[in-house]
Amino acid sequence: MVTQTIREAAREAQVADRSDVVVVGGGPAGISAAVSAARNGASVTLLERYPYLGGLASGGMVLVLDDMHNGTEVTVQGICMEMIERMRAWGLCVTPPDEDRKPGARETDAMWRKWARWGLFDFHTHSMPHPICFSAAFDPDAFKRASYAVIGDAGVKLRAHSWFSSAIVEDGAIKGVVCETKEGRQAILGDVVIDATGDLDVAASAGAKSQESSFILTTVSRWGGVDTDRAEAFQFESPKEFAALDHEAKRIIGGCWNFWWLKTPLPGVVWLNCPHIPKLHGLKVADLTAAEIEGRVRMERLMEFARKNLPGFENAYVVDFAPQTGVRQTRLLQGEYVVTKEDVMSRRHFADTVCRGRDYYTPYRAMLPREVDQLIVAGRHYSATPQAQKTSREIPPCMAMGEAAGVAATVALNAGVTVRKVDVRAIQTKMRAQGADPGDVPSDNATFLEAAE
Ligand SMILES: Cc1cc2nc3c(=O)[nH]c(=O)nc-3n(C[C@H](O)[C@H](O)[C@H](O)COP(=O)(O)OP(=O)(O)OC[C@H]3O[C@@H](n4cnc5c(N)ncnc54)[C@H](O)[C@@H]3O)c2cc1C
Repeated sequence: MVTQTIREAAREAQVADRSDVVVVGGGPAGISAAVSAARNGASVTLLERYPYLGGLASGGMVLVLDDMHNGTEVTVQGICMEMIERMRAWGLCVTPPDEDRKPGARETDAMWRKWARWGLFDFHTHSMPHPICFSAAFDPDAFKRASYAVIGDAGVKLRAHSWFSSAIVEDGAIKGVVCETKEGRQAILGDVVIDATGDLDVAASAGAKSQESSFILTTVSRWGGVDTDRAEAFQFESPKEFAALDHEAKRIIGGCWNFWWLKTPLPGVVWLNCPHIPKLHGLKVADLTAAEIEGRVRMERLMEFARKNLPGFENAYVVDFAPQTGVRQTRLLQGEYVVTKEDVMSRRHFADTVCRGRDYYTPYRAMLPREVDQLIVAGRHYSATPQAQKTSREIPPCMAMGEAAGVAATVALNAGVTVRKVDVRAIQTKMRAQGADPGDVPSDNATFLEAAE
């Protein structure tokens, strides 16, 4: 291991922009944060290292929006739902209709057969078949286009190709950020900064405490030329033969969820949320590089097996591998409150809940670093234990967190207080007013209320 270091000369950065709110990271959380802040009257700059928006939802080709339905109601609304509607209007997003999600229908074999290979079911239940729930299968480029559309309509200033490198902190408060760009280093100043990098890059650089963790890495890919009708018929009509071949496919993959391929809105194109590659760290250059190579080797072997053996896959070919490595967990904020697995599992409701996921709630304090002022954190790096984050990091809850962060920033700016001192009730009221769900406990659901205690 090389331990030598060099000292860099102090450098200057050109001030390229200044806004009320600077959002770093144009993934699901960052898009929502930027749109939400802009709609509430703030000038907003959104910084993204890649040319496109969407983060793991587009560049990572994670193609199901889930964890947004608690069995009886859709719990993530707002900007996430607007994105779904935009993509649905283009025919590039599929959701189960109301009648397929009704009690009595949603847990039947017929619905399972209809929706299982879309991945639109509640995988948190132990019952089989898993009940169908509201979730959305979408196309990655549609997510990029819908993202450009929502930020454009809201008047957000987008600076793509801008790789955040360091936070500007004065007297304990963040004042802006520095990005590496093809034009050189650029400073972007703001009154409030929202860290939506997923890896806590901004907060860590600003001196906020975090916990480093890691989970499996994945090189997601898409295959085309798949006869999905034949593949599904084989699965459901020849279960024994299917089970044997599926078992062998899983052995070749070397780690995956139960359904290693799922349908997409493009006919004959499936996405593969595999392989699971353990013991690699999503912040380490060598590990990220190794994952790209290892993932391709395993998927090549799988393709050879599938073409020879799996009905429906005879003419399959690789469409693409996701341009971004599938990193689920790296740094997690140790904020004003750290959400635990017990909080998530017991559906603990907090007085400062500002949004929710499937059936769990996110307190505003879990978005605030203890050490740095004027910085809000939203997305998969929020303040939670590694175990809690594993079950509360899906795309819709991250979007809901981003939306709440954007609201919080503007409420603070309008009231002339710091983001730490903001009146949480004002965030909740604004979230409700703009069609988002601030995590109100449904008053007509006694069981739910009890569980939320
Ligand atoms: C393989 C895999 C499968 C998954 N499956 C599902 C699923 O089926 N359904 C589901 O809902 N969720 C799933 N998830 C989880 C989900 O994708 C993420 O938790 C979610 O995308 C997090 O959103 P985010 O905005 O917090 O972070 P990200 O999506 O990671 O977005 C962060 C953004 O910040 C940008 N960024 C990062 N660092 C910098 C920097 N230094 N400078 C500038 N920009 C930067 C990135 O380019 C990116 O655009 C999966 C995740 C993985 C990896």
